[in-house]
Amino acid sequence: MITITLPDNSKREYPEGIDILGVAKDIGSRLAKSAVAGKIKSDGKEEIVDLRTRLNKDVELAILTFEDKEGRHVYRHTASHILAQAVKRLWPDAKLAIGPAIEDGFYYDFDVKKPFTPEDLEAIEKEMEKIIQEDHPVTRSELVLDAAIKFENEKNEKYKVELIEGLEEGEIISFYSQGEFTDLCEGPHLPSTGRVKAFKLLSVAGAYWRGDETKPMLQRIYGTAYDDKKSLQAHIERLEEAKRRDHRKLGKELDLFSIHEEGGPGLIYWHPKGGLVRQLIEDFWRSEHRKRGYDIVYSPHIAKVDLWKTSGHWDWYKDDMYSTIDIDGVEYMLKPMNCPFHILMYQTRTRSYRDLPLRWGELGTVYRYERSGVLHGLLRVRGFTQDDAHIFCRPDQVDQELKGVVQLAQFMMESFGYSEYEIHLSVRDPENQEKYIGESAIWESAEKALALALDDLGLPYHVDEGEAKFYGPAIDIKVKDALGRGWQGPTIQLDFNLPERFDITYIGEDGQEHRPVMIHRTVLGSMERFLGGLVEHYAGAFPSWLAPVQVKILPITDRQHDYAFEVAELLKSKGIRVEVDDRSEKIGYKIRQGETEKIPYMLVVGDREVENGQVAVRARRVGDLGSQGVQEFSEKLLEEIQKRSVGSILTAK
Ligand SMILES: [Zn+2]
Ligand SMILES: [Zn+2]
Repeated sequence: MITITLPDNSKREYPEGIDILGVAKDIGSRLAKSAVAGKIKSDGKEEIVDLRTRLNKDVELAILTFEDKEGRHVYRHTASHILAQAVKRLWPDAKLAIGPAIEDGFYYDFDVKKPFTPEDLEAIEKEMEKIIQEDHPVTRSELVLDAAIKFENEKNEKYKVELIEGLEEGEIISFYSQGEFTDLCEGPHLPSTGRVKAFKLLSVAGAYWRGDETKPMLQRIYGTAYDDKKSLQAHIERLEEAKRRDHRKLGKELDLFSIHEEGGPGLIYWHPKGGLVRQLIEDFWRSEHRKRGYDIVYSPHIAKVDLWKTSGHWDWYKDDMYSTIDIDGVEYMLKPMNCPFHILMYQTRTRSYRDLPLRWGELGTVYRYERSGVLHGLLRVRGFTQDDAHIFCRPDQVDQELKGVVQLAQFMMESFGYSEYEIHLSVRDPENQEKYIGESAIWESAEKALALALDDLGLPYHVDEGEAKFYGPAIDIKVKDALGRGWQGPTIQLDFNLPERFDITYIGEDGQEHRPVMIHRTVLGSMERFLGGLVEHYAGAFPSWLAPVQVKILPITDRQHDYAFEVAELLKSKGIRVEVDDRSEKIGYKIRQGETEKIPYMLVVGDREVENGQVAVRARRVGDLGSQGVQEFSEKLLEEIQKRSVGSILTAK
């Protein structure tokens, strides 16, 4: 007999050799039905394994279902094998590459003569449905390396052969079979194909073998799978909503920005309306920073290579920087960061302990190399403006300063309507310390200081090993948008290294030179990415304080034109951004157009409104609010703008 310890610490005895599915059945038939894999722990090692795995010794065992992240992974991995099996049935010549589960779904890469069409995807889905109906048991088998190569060679699967050849001699290679289909795979998998309850193929895209542009282009089919039809449907609706909110699509429709192949990929052109939103965000940013004792500085876009050697970027950040520019025989580089510039300014005079902290903010445009394949709208670009700041402070001020930055970050996120966020403490990868600059002891104290500030503020956080930048650990805040998706928000880095490398000092109370500490931080990240995120968060419907046009006046006929322009002038004089739609179009058409433009308020004026000196107010998403005086409307709108209210306060009676 062996003893199995379950997650609730209860123990059960079973005959040696029982499989995990047998244990699940013993616990309950419902669990046995929803079980997808087992997680066993013995001798301090944890492993996810097939339900058919036999247990031969005492272990800790958790039965995984679709509710568990690892369980979902197994479930979707099996769905990817069903996809591959279906493709092989329909295109026997297709060569298989890899097919993993990914966040929210799975994919499989195929080498085929011509790209898959939407009709092909439908045919594949039908075949997958059949394979699920056939309910083939999924079984594991093993071969030694040479036999495995021979096996895949016989099937003409050259990518599989290449994968196996990359493994070590003597290794045991595992395969999974279902019906006529066998695939090289580590597993684990569902016990049978019939266990997949709901799936959908989503899209197809070109992908290079091993992500290498010099290698063959494969066809990657993306799909997802759920353990019930309702959840699958909800997921598909979420995807459609995300598509509807895509900032690249809305950016074009709302005339916010563009990117030009002629100008170069990954470089953003801000149109008047996008430029206006950006300026409003920047003005708000500056004023909130001044309130908190920041000074605003400006620095150049390029500097001599030597400066980047001193800072360490040359050695540690070279892959992210562009090649040098020759000016009068001296090499310069575009800046990937603003930090060394602020240090040069720090060094222009002797600093006393009384001068610190210095908080210097800059909306600094930086340039970083990104491969063309990863560029994405405003989110992954090659030139962007960081809302950067560097705080130079004494060691005894670090805690206070860190807390101030975290609180500012929270305030900024909430001001833009991001009420949910997660805090991550990004520390070194203890296994790869050579990836980081500076001494280990310094790193440890920096990591401790960041944790302490978060603890003091009573904020919960996750520790992410290996996520720190090369020069220091950081607090990274990930915000959740209206669709529940995570976005990179504020980052706060603590740095003892750059002050050392540039040998910057301050004169302490004791008259001696001391080393200041540097805090690098951004709260929005970059103007580009932040705006891209904001467009998707609001689905393009900016709150009135950020809307490029806050009010649109719609005269019903030509008779009300004079009055419409009169009202517009009055609102403009109060600083409200207003347009008049004086085209000779039907009022219904003008209203629909205003809705497409996502204008917060439309004021309809007809003869009655002219007579009574009123406007008929329509609020975005809410509709008709009835007629009111122009003065009354403008006062309420100004209050809404001033409060930076995310919703309409006019509708709240
Ligand atoms: Zn696999
Ligand atoms: Zn910096």
